[in-house]
Amino acid sequence: MNDAATPPVLDAFIVGAGPVGLATGCALRAAGLTVQVADAGSAGRALEDSRVIALSAGSRDILRTLQAWPAADATPIGTIHISQRGHFGRTELRAADFGLDALGHVARAGSLVRALRTRAAALDLDIRYGLAVTGAREDGDAIEVSTADGLVRARVLLWCEGRVADDEALARSRDYGQHAVIALATPASPHGHVAYERFTPHGPVALLPCGRDYAVVYTCDAAEAEALRDETDARFMQRLSDAVGGRVRFTALGPRGAWPLALRMRADIVRGRQVWLGNAAQTLHPVAGQGLNLALRDVGQLAECLLPSLARQDGALDEALARYARLRRTDRAATGGFTDFLARVFTLGAGAPLLGPLAGHARGAALALLDAFPPARQFVGRRMMFGARGW
Ligand SMILES: Cc1cc2nc3c(=O)[nH]c(=O)nc-3n(C[C@H](O)[C@H](O)[C@H](O)COP(=O)(O)OP(=O)(O)OC[C@H]3O[C@@H](n4cnc5c(N)ncnc54)[C@H](O)[C@@H]3O)c2cc1C
Repeated sequence: MNDAATPPVLDAFIVGAGPVGLATGCALRAAGLTVQVADAGSAGRALEDSRVIALSAGSRDILRTLQAWPAADATPIGTIHISQRGHFGRTELRAADFGLDALGHVARAGSLVRALRTRAAALDLDIRYGLAVTGAREDGDAIEVSTADGLVRARVLLWCEGRVADDEALARSRDYGQHAVIALATPASPHGHVAYERFTPHGPVALLPCGRDYAVVYTCDAAEAEALRDETDARFMQRLSDAVGGRVRFTALGPRGAWPLALRMRADIVRGRQVWLGNAAQTLHPVAGQGLNLALRDVGQLAECLLPSLARQDGALDEALARYARLRRTDRAATGGFTDFLARVFTLGAGAPLLGPLAGHARGAALALLDAFPPARQFVGRRMMFGARGW
């Protein structure tokens, strides 16, 4: 029982109201738990996120369960065409081969946040903007969270702050020395729901169908990204068309933005009663669009593990958290490793007179093999759509 001086202990406190914090908040609140979310930024900031996200079939299932699927802004992907520039070898993943209506959907990050906020409002989820969390300490069976407004006590503290801190918990990091230049570009002919992933010596280039446009993710080194932001629209559209071997031509281009790319993985995602999720647990290269998809699997599994013991108010919470950490191990390691491999293997040997062509042929052979061998395509496709448990 709480006396007048002691504030009630919340079931969960969530740091960050990005897509991961909101999805986690909705999952726990829908089960009737007491939850508070604090975000250091303003309410408007996340809605302005210009990134466009490829959401896998598995993510759609999770968001539908949460009743936060951004249906009005979700463009289906029917086919993914994968190839490398300057070498033979290509393959295509088609939704029909997987018995699906779509391999995934493309949505603006802002639309996803809007859909999650609408659901959060219906659930009466307590979200406070402009409120930074400055620290936390374990206090018996609760966590004491320090915010700019004072102390809050909760049974679990969920960090969804969008970055892996530079402390002893950082297990793996790699600065790719690359930026992703992003923009919306209007194709001269309808895209027909075909996405392109093209590997080039300067990094991967992705075109994702988004409404009637293509969302472009053009990876290159940091200095080039700076120059590309100032390039004329006509020149940049030609560059994009060249990057995909002239398969698509463009007639209009939206504003360009740039994101620095790095891999950062936490060693432990559970410590005592604290859990790190999404980009706070692992930040990945956007090649193959895995970051938020992996994060939503974090959320789905956390809810599955935690809800029974949080709802029962019994002592099984530590056991549930340990189980969660155990269950996330394979998916995190496999997705982080796969993404890092893809980000590096297609630039391997770039500029090297002998290694370059050899590496290019080897990659071409791998793509050709994938194309000729449907079970391998199924394996890669299902893993990208559903994570390590997809096969
Ligand atoms: C170019 C690019 C393309 C991408 N494409 C894809 C894709 O196609 N598919 C895919 O699955 N993923 C993709 N991703 C990854 C995806 O964007 C991220 O995984 C996702 O946005 C992370 O969400 P989050 O909620 O963890 O973090 P964020 O969206 O960063 O949210 C964190 C929130 O925490 C708040 N915060 C931080 N510190 C504090 C504090 N101390 N107190 C209170 N609040 C705090 C911040 O204000 C922020 O609102 C891409 C990434 C990039 C860079």
